[in-house]
Parts: sequence; C-alpha cells; structure tokens
Amino acid sequence: MTMETLVPFDEATGRYEPVIGLETHVELGTRTKMFCGCTTTFGAEPNSQVCPVCLGLPGSLPVVNRMAIEYTIRIGLALNCTIATWCRFARKNYFYPDMPKNFQISQYDEPLCTDGYLDVAVGGQTVRVGIERVHLEEDTGKSLHVGGATGRIHGAEYSLVDYNRAGIPLVEIVTKPVAGTGADAPVVARTYVTELRDLVRSLGVSDVRMEEGSLRCDVNVSLSPRGSSQWGTRTETKNVNSLRSVQRAVEFEIERQAAVLDAGGRVIQETRHLHEDSGTTTSGRSKEEAQDYRYFPEPDLVPVAPPAEWVTQIRASLPEAPSARRARLQAEWDLSDLDLAALSNAGALDLVAETVAAGASPADARKWWLGELARRANDAGLELSALAITPAQVARVAELVSSGVLNDRLARDVIHAVLTGAGDPDQVVAARGLAVVSDEGALAAAVDAAIAAHPDVAAKVRDGKVAAAGPLVGAVMKATGHQADAARVRQLILDRLS
Ligand SMILES: [Zn+2]
Repeated sequence: MTMETLVPFDEATGRYEPVIGLETHVELGTRTKMFCGCTTTFGAEPNSQVCPVCLGLPGSLPVVNRMAIEYTIRIGLALNCTIATWCRFARKNYFYPDMPKNFQISQYDEPLCTDGYLDVAVGGQTVRVGIERVHLEEDTGKSLHVGGATGRIHGAEYSLVDYNRAGIPLVEIVTKPVAGTGADAPVVARTYVTELRDLVRSLGVSDVRMEEGSLRCDVNVSLSPRGSSQWGTRTETKNVNSLRSVQRAVEFEIERQAAVLDAGGRVIQETRHLHEDSGTTTSGRSKEEAQDYRYFPEPDLVPVAPPAEWVTQIRASLPEAPSARRARLQAEWDLSDLDLAALSNAGALDLVAETVAAGASPADARKWWLGELARRANDAGLELSALAITPAQVARVAELVSSGVLNDRLARDVIHAVLTGAGDPDQVVAARGLAVVSDEGALAAAVDAAIAAHPDVAAKVRDGKVAAAGPLVGAVMKATGHQADAARVRQLILDRLS
C-alpha cells in the first residue's frame, strides 16, 4: 500500500467543489428469494438454502417474487419516484466465482422506479437529494478466502463459496449527482444514508443492518475547481459498511483528489476500497475502459407491468415517513431543534414515543431516557433499546413519581432493580418497601428534630433567608432514609419556621 498525499480538508474544499453520488444496495426481507422458493434466513449453514434455479443449473426457470416487486414499489413511492407501468429485467453478463449463473438478473434501461428525491436536514438546512432510479436485481453469493493473513483472496490457500445469499432480492437506489454542498458533502452523504436506512426500515421491507450487509453503499466523489462549471473525474469507493465510513470515505477522497489535482495530475476513474480501520481508500479496479456487460432483456421472464390500482393501494398503505414523524413529534412535544437532535442522536425517539404512548408525559419520558437510562446504557456499553427495561415500565416509574409514591432518588433505585431483573416497578416497590414516607406524624417529628439540631440554620430561615434551609432538608431526608419527598419536606420546614 502506498501512502497517499493528502490536502487538509478545509483547504481542499476551499479550492474545490465536491460532487457526490451514492449507490445503495438494500437486501429485501422477503421470506423467499427473488426467482425461486429458497428461504433467506441470515446465518444458516453454507449452501443449505439453494436449489437448481438460484444455482443456475441448466433447464431451470426463474419466476418473479411478487412480494419483492411490491417492496421495491414501496421504496420507490416513499422516495417520490415515478413507478414504471411496464418494465423488464435484463441479463448482466460477467464472470465472478460467487455468481453461479455467470450472469446476474438485474434491470438496465427499464428500472421499476425513476426520478424521485429524498430531503435530508443538515445544519438547519434541507438538502434535496435527487433519486435517479430504484431497480431490482438478485444478490450474489459470498466467497470466503481461507489461509491468508487478510481474509482477501491474495495470499489465501483456498476459497469457499456460499450460495445462500445468491438470488436474494436486492434493491439498488442510485442518487443523481449532488453538487453545491461544499464542505458539508461528507455529512450530507452520511445523513442521506441514515435517512434512507430509517425510511426503508419504517417501510418494513428490510432490516437494513449495515453490519450484516443488508445495506451496503458505494460512494462516488469528484472534485472540480471552484468557479469551474465542468465536473471532475469521479472515483467509486465500494461496499462501505458503516455510516461513519460513508462520511470518512467522502472526506478521504476529497483530501486525496485535491492533492492529485494540486500536483497537476489527473484523477483516474476507478473503484477504490475503503479500509475501515484507517479510514483510507486504496485503488481497486480501473474503470477507464468501461466493462461491457452485454445487457439484453432476460428471455426467461415476462415483463413486469404493475397495475395502477395496485400501485395506488401500495401508496395508501405507506406509513408516515420518519422525517414527517419527527416533525410531528417535535411539535406535539414542544421540542427545540436541539432537543430533537439529542433524542435522535441518543436513539431515544422511538423509546420516548412508546413511553408517552404508555401514559408518561413527554417531559418525564425524555428526562428518564436521556438522563438515568442513558447513563446506565453508557456505563454498560449498550444501546438504549438494549436495556432490560420497557417503555411501559419507565412510564410506570414516572407515574409513581408524579403520584408521590416515589421521589427521584427512590425511582432511580427502582430502575436499577428493574434493570437487574427484580421484576416490574410495582413488584420492586412492594418487595423492598421503597415508597416515600407519607406518615405526617413521622415527617413532622423528623422536621422538629432537624430544627432542634440546627438552631443557627433555623434562625436564618426564620429571618427570611429561605435559601438557607438546605441543611435542614438534608437532615430530614437522612433521618427518613431518603424515602421522603424533598420538595414536601422543604415546604413543611418553611411552614414550621414562618
Ligand atoms: Zn433457490
């Protein structure tokens, strides 16, 4: 690997305008494959989910999976695309060991969905990312290279091929070139993929897990000198597997291409590989001479002609888009942009929404999820949603606080108990006697004792220095094992000394 010369990012975007493009592959969550009845479960024993069709054996015939067409139309409609009234699949001919037929059934000049857009919010601005096309194809198998140091084919002793993934329906979503975003280009790329992932997930058509490869991204970047109307030569960084890496791939290519152009060189049109550990890309296959895939209409399949009424039904069944839902919840919960961003960044939006649905106030739900529970998730190195407490349980804790049964400190004890498997909040409260001391006589006695023990403080409060009452409140809380409502104790003390 040669060390690339880089230009610092700010300098690079000062002199050059980046143009980005994103090609995203989404594996659909259909129960069966694109053209046969094989199941699609992730992680099954290698080559246990194959048949003559997805192995491309002679004489086998593909049949289109109707659900895959429906899912693709759902994605196309959610991305504001036009849905084709008639289109065909095409054969894309090339050799690759993990592609059993030696061709891939894809779509070429007749994609199912075209000309849409997805709006993404970056730094308080909305960037409209144009969608060129959404088409349907089949996934390839997977090669495993054994015996080498890197897991790549170079240096391996032998390779194994698993065809379980071959023939799983794959949707490719291609953006139009996105220009004019300047130094925001890397963040725009990351935000677009994030928004697309959330949108596809909300449609229920894929689990869109980047770490399992059900969402994969190719990132195109080119630079042109500021003020120039001509776009530069682009590179394509393949199979970027995390949101962070999408951003990093764009940043790195901007820094690298700027150095090439500064030195009077020219950017070579090529595919590049991202190294997730270092965030750098290295040269892969040159695309200077376009590969001829000899596309032709797939002769074994009939054309796809979705009836208008079917498309109308699918459109009517689309859920609220994540961006629209965020805007609605922001208004309903009276949140600032910063509050909303904090919820989204913490992955707490759905949890808070479910907690509110279970009866808590939006303020209480946010307080517990972003406060105590976020702290505990952070300590345990877990996502918030992985904590062993349900939104309904959090709502119950909030209710116990607002009805005066628990104070905040006791509520934290209850949450701790629930997280460690002690049962529901009500069971914990009952089993451990965790409830605020509400016996008026006991509280009054504790207040009198505290005043007697701190005559100087009591004198100050009597003189009108209400803020000085802290030590008295502390003494009463201590005397009651912190099982009193601090606000109420404070009021009792002030009443007593007035
Ligand atoms: Zn099959």
